Amino acid sequence: MSSAAPIDLRSDTVTRPDAEMRAAMAAAEVGDDVLDGDPTMRALEDRAAELLGVEATLWVPSGSMGNLVALFLHLRRGDRFFAPQRAHVLDSEVGTASWLAGGMPQPLPWTAGPGRITAEDIRASAVGGGAYFALRNRLLCLENTHNAAGGTTTSPQEHAELVAAARETGLLVHLDGARVWNAAVALKTAPADLTRGVDTVQACLSKGLGAPVGSVVGGSADFVHEARRVRKMLGGGVRQGGVLAAAGLVALERVDRLAEDHDNAQFLASGLRELGWDAAAPETNIVMAEVPDPAGAVGRLRRAGVLALSLGGRLRLITHRDVSRDDIRQALDRIAALSD
Ligand SMILES: *Cc1c(COP(=O)(O)O)cnc(C)c1O
Repeated sequence: MSSAAPIDLRSDTVTRPDAEMRAAMAAAEVGDDVLDGDPTMRALEDRAAELLGVEATLWVPSGSMGNLVALFLHLRRGDRFFAPQRAHVLDSEVGTASWLAGGMPQPLPWTAGPGRITAEDIRASAVGGGAYFALRNRLLCLENTHNAAGGTTTSPQEHAELVAAARETGLLVHLDGARVWNAAVALKTAPADLTRGVDTVQACLSKGLGAPVGSVVGGSADFVHEARRVRKMLGGGVRQGGVLAAAGLVALERVDRLAEDHDNAQFLASGLRELGWDAAAPETNIVMAEVPDPAGAVGRLRRAGVLALSLGGRLRLITHRDVSRDDIRQALDRIAALSD
């Protein structure tokens, strides 16, 4: 058992609001966002819309709620929606895409590499059924970066091809951009380049950007008008939300520094490889390692003072703003000591 504090690489959601963020929260101008609006909420939603290249956004307490609000408005009961295999909307949102939004899920294979689907697969899968009893193909749900695939990115070119294929086949498009900020930084492009042509997008403030709470879901002004009703229906309308939105505004100033997390993830993966691990070079901040017994490995790492998760038969380690390069070095030392 390591006596030093554990190095927490379970997720970038473990990031805590720092002094600057807490000060902004304490000083936030607030109103009643359910009654007649909160000025800091408005400022955050406007700033997020600008960065994401959409007409408007709505703050929501979680990414899951953001995705659900969008799917709820896009789908009618029994409509089919497509998403890359092991997408968050398929596997990690309690099945709400089906039992609340009413969608029939159809996973698409990773034909173009981990987390990556192809325009051909969309065209082949979304052909009209014809018969009156056939499912209606309604929506394509993209995920950039793809979490379960290991934070893999979809480039603006690939994104444009996928959106074009969806349009050709009459599908709406929602982007689960929980980590679209990471994708943009890794691809050296603007987040708005990765939302081009979509109907709606969800992006998290509470992961690598470090806000304690919150996501935004965006699209047209009409969409956001309806989304506000659905958010309320789901219990997600909050009163003096400016306290939380203030954290979100600080978070949005921290997009560029995600590059550090990506560098640290590269450093971690190559360090693991030097120790003989099978860890692919990450595109963003998620390192996936193939180990024979992921659950057992999580336990051994925990006892050595490194926290990780087992995900889909692999070990997942995520770098974030609360772990420095020194922490990663320390983590590698602790892991090395394990194999001695
Ligand atoms: C984290 C995550 C979400 C959901 O965010 P929560 O705030 O945890 O509900 C959605 N999609 C992806 C890809 C995520 O990684």
